[in-house]
Amino acid sequence: MKTGKQYIQDMMNMNFELYIDGGKVKGPEVINHPKVRPMINAIAETYDMQHEKDLQESLQCKSHLTGEIISRWTHVPQTVEDNIRKVDITRFANRRIGMCSFRCVQNSFPALLLTAQETDKAKGTHYYNNVVEYIKYFQKNDLVGCPALTDPKGDRKVPAHLQEDPDMYLRVVDKNKEGIVLRGAKMCQTGSVVTYEKIVLPCITHGPGAEAYAVACAVPGNAKGIKNISARYSQDDRRVENPEWDMGNIKYGFHETVVIFDDVFVPWERVFMCGEVEFTGMLVNLIGGTHRPTTGGCKTGWTDVLIGAVQTYAEYNGTSTVSHIRDKITDMIMYNEMMYSCGIASCVKSTWHDGVGMIPDMLLGNNTKYITSKAVYELVRLAEDIVGGIITTLPSDKEFRNPEISHYLDRFYKGARGATAENRARIVRLIENLTYGAGALCHSAAHGGGSGQACKLSMYEFARGEPLESRKRDAQRLCGIIK
Ligand SMILES: Cc1cc2nc3c(=O)[nH]c(=O)nc-3n(C[C@H](O)[C@H](O)[C@H](O)COP(=O)(O)OP(=O)(O)OC[C@H]3O[C@@H](n4cnc5c(N)ncnc54)[C@H](O)[C@@H]3O)c2cc1C
Repeated sequence: MKTGKQYIQDMMNMNFELYIDGGKVKGPEVINHPKVRPMINAIAETYDMQHEKDLQESLQCKSHLTGEIISRWTHVPQTVEDNIRKVDITRFANRRIGMCSFRCVQNSFPALLLTAQETDKAKGTHYYNNVVEYIKYFQKNDLVGCPALTDPKGDRKVPAHLQEDPDMYLRVVDKNKEGIVLRGAKMCQTGSVVTYEKIVLPCITHGPGAEAYAVACAVPGNAKGIKNISARYSQDDRRVENPEWDMGNIKYGFHETVVIFDDVFVPWERVFMCGEVEFTGMLVNLIGGTHRPTTGGCKTGWTDVLIGAVQTYAEYNGTSTVSHIRDKITDMIMYNEMMYSCGIASCVKSTWHDGVGMIPDMLLGNNTKYITSKAVYELVRLAEDIVGGIITTLPSDKEFRNPEISHYLDRFYKGARGATAENRARIVRLIENLTYGAGALCHSAAHGGGSGQACKLSMYEFARGEPLESRKRDAQRLCGIIK
C-alpha cells in the first residue's frame, strides 16, 4: 500500500496539464498550485492513514480476488460488515480532514461487476473478466480514481442521440481491433488532476438509437486527448493569497474541473460496456444504490466537524449552556445520526450476489442520499443561527495582523472566559468554509452523487409495484374495504 509521499510523487510523475487562471500549468506546477494542493494534501492524508497502527484493522483487508492485503478503499465488499466498515471509514476520514476523502470511486465496482455479468450472459460479451482484471490492477497499485459520470447534457429533456450537438453526452466515435475512441466531456469532475484513473460511466439510462453513448471504461488520468479545465469555485482566490487561517480548513480542500475528451483511445481490456443500451439503466441504478449508502458516512464526517466547531464557538461566546443553544446543537446531532443510521441500515440489509459480493439495499441506499440532501441544509441553518452575523462579516486575517488596527480587532472580537479574538476568528472561518465556503457541504449534499430528485426517482422505482400494492391491501383491509 502506498504512503502519502509515494502518492504525491506519482501525481508529479503523471505530468498533468491544467487550464487555470487564464493560462496552462503542467506537472509539478499543477500539483503545487495553491488551488490544487489542498486536495493533494487531503488524498495524501488518506494514504498515510492506511499505515497508522491503530487504523490498520479498519483500513486494510484481504482482497477476495488475490488474497493479498489491500487498502479497504479498493475492496469490493464481501460481507455486511465490509459494507458497514466502508461507511465508518468514510466518516472517520472525512472527519479527520474536514471534507470529502475522495476514496469512493470503487463504490462503482460492484455495479460494474453485476452489470458486466448480466451483459455477458445475455449478449456473449467478455466484460466481466475485464472488470475483474481492472479491479485487481486497481487494488495491487492502491489507486484512487475520479468518477466520470456527469455529461454536459444540453437540453435535459432530449435523449443523447437526438441532441442538436452530438457531443452533449460522452460517446464512442470509433472502434477498431485494439479499442474505442471517446469524444465529449464530463462536468463537475472532482479531483481529475489529482487521481490516477477516470472511471467513465453513463450518467443516465440510454435507449435504442443511443448505442454510441452506452459506454463504461477506465481511462488513465493523463491519457492523450484529455484536457482538464479548472472550475472557479468559492474562495479560490483566498488560497492564492496564502492566508494564515482565512481558508478555515487550513490544509485540505477540493479541486474540480471540466474534463474534455478530445478523441481519447481506450484499449478493449479497459472497456466494461460499449453499445449495450439495454443495460445502461441497470448500471446507472446500481451505481446509485451502491454509492449512496456511503453518504451516510461521508456527510456525517463533515458535519461531525461542523458540530464540533459550533460547540467550540458557543463556548467561546459563553452561550454553550443556554437552553436553546443546547437544544439546537442536539438537533444537529440528531440530523447527523439520522443520516448515519440510514447508511448503516442499507448496509445491514445488503444482499449477496454471486461473483460480485454484498450489495447494499438499494431503496435504503437512495433514501440515505435523499435525506442527506435535505438534512445538511438544516444543519447549516442551525449552525448559522448559533454563530450569528460574524460568519459573513469577519475581517480578513491580514487585518488581524496589521499593527495599526490589530489591537482593535483583538479587543472587539474577544469572547467569554479568555477566548481570544484569533481563536474565535479561526473557528468562524472553519464554519464559513463548511457552510458557504470552499468546503461547502450543501452543494456536495445537494448534487454530489446525483441530485435528490434522481434518488427519489430510484426510490419510487424500487417501491412501486408489489411493495406499494401490499401497502394498499393493508390499508384497505384495516378499514374493511377488503377482508
Ligand atoms: C461538489 C460536487 C462534486 C461533484 N463531483 C462529481 C464527480 O467527481 N464526478 C461526476 O461525474 N460528477 C460530479 N458531480 C456532479 C453531480 O453528480 C451532478 O451535479 C448531479 O448529478 C446533477 O447533474 P447536473 O449538475 O448536470 O444538474 P442537472 O442534471 O441539470 O439537474 C438540475 C435540476 O434539474 C433536474 N433535471 C435534470 N434533468 C431533468 C429531466 N430530464 N427531467 C426532470 N428534471 C430534470 C434535476 O433533478 C435537478 O433538480 C459533482 C457535483 C458537485 C456539486
